[in-house]
Amino acid sequence: MDYYRILGIPRNATEAEIKSAFRKLALKYHPDRNPGNKEAEIKFKEVNEAYAVLSKPDKRRIYDQYGYEGLRNGGFSGFEDIDLGDIFGDIFDNFFGGSVWGERRRKSRRGGDLKESVEITLEDAFHGVKIPLKFSRAQTCSVCGGSGARPGSGRNTCPTCRGSGRVQYSQGFFSFSQTCPDCRGEGEVISSPCKQCRGGGREKKEVVLNIKIPPGVDNDSLLRVSGAGDAGIKGGRNGDLYVQVRIKHHPHFEREDADLVYVSSLNVAQATLGAEIKIPLIEGGKTVLSIPAGTQHGSVFRLPHKGMPVAGQKKRGDMLVRVRVEIPRKLSGRERQIFMDLLALWGKDNGDAPEKKKKGGLFRKVFTLL
Ligand SMILES: [Zn+2]
Ligand SMILES: [Zn+2]
Repeated sequence: MDYYRILGIPRNATEAEIKSAFRKLALKYHPDRNPGNKEAEIKFKEVNEAYAVLSKPDKRRIYDQYGYEGLRNGGFSGFEDIDLGDIFGDIFDNFFGGSVWGERRRKSRRGGDLKESVEITLEDAFHGVKIPLKFSRAQTCSVCGGSGARPGSGRNTCPTCRGSGRVQYSQGFFSFSQTCPDCRGEGEVISSPCKQCRGGGREKKEVVLNIKIPPGVDNDSLLRVSGAGDAGIKGGRNGDLYVQVRIKHHPHFEREDADLVYVSSLNVAQATLGAEIKIPLIEGGKTVLSIPAGTQHGSVFRLPHKGMPVAGQKKRGDMLVRVRVEIPRKLSGRERQIFMDLLALWGKDNGDAPEKKKKGGLFRKVFTLL
């Protein structure tokens, strides 16, 4: 019997090549896929035997040196149980819907991540804020403490596999072991499942968490609260909670990263003669800004360190004050007379005013606010 030919691999095949050839052929000739096919059954046995030898370095060495006879003399029966479940778990999950082969020992699993969102004011984002957030998540069952067993009932050794987690599976004259379908490989079964969680060990609960939002948080920031998501399963870690922070529109300020933009309207006389104007501050109160004579519509003044805090740092952004010069829409008789006098002084001729280059996003954005 030529094991290399059975698996269709060269004599110097690597372990990975051996395993891969075996998987392919074992799948092809598997009894579940060839019911009642004697030839497939024989091929499957040969493939198993070849793999049982070639996958074990010491047996392969004997076989390479002394051949099939050498193995027989060495006391090797030619057939041995192979844990197909471990090699095939992933493949058979797909091929057989996890029915016979796919069940693997259930391991502890991390709880799911959750996403919630909160809405805060710009003032809250400036100072930082604690917000109670109400949401529901899977928590460890309060009745059974996560075991899934009704209190006092406990767990029993699985009668199907007698606690080993695996059962022998016979097909024709050879057998292999598979994960026990009744206990899913755990070796124990719950004699009486917990009523609260129906044996799952977790229950959905509405909780309220105080979420601490740091100063300087930006709109649409995602905060991670480690371990505040769904509870883990079988001792697995909890998932995380992600909190998306939305900042409400502010009546006075528009935010540009750490800077705040404030639009102030001036009348023609103020812009022409200069003025002291009051600017509201995000931290409350007002400051006074001196506007020089001859200030043009659209001019921007910068108040250093009057913007938003930079998250995690001590510094603050600036406040940008953009001037909007209001042209009067209605005039009283006296106002009209004054403008008529100015017109007489300045003349009626119009001139060219080539459009100035705009200075990027900030100014375009402010324009749209006006
Ligand atoms: Zn329970
Ligand atoms: Zn079992």
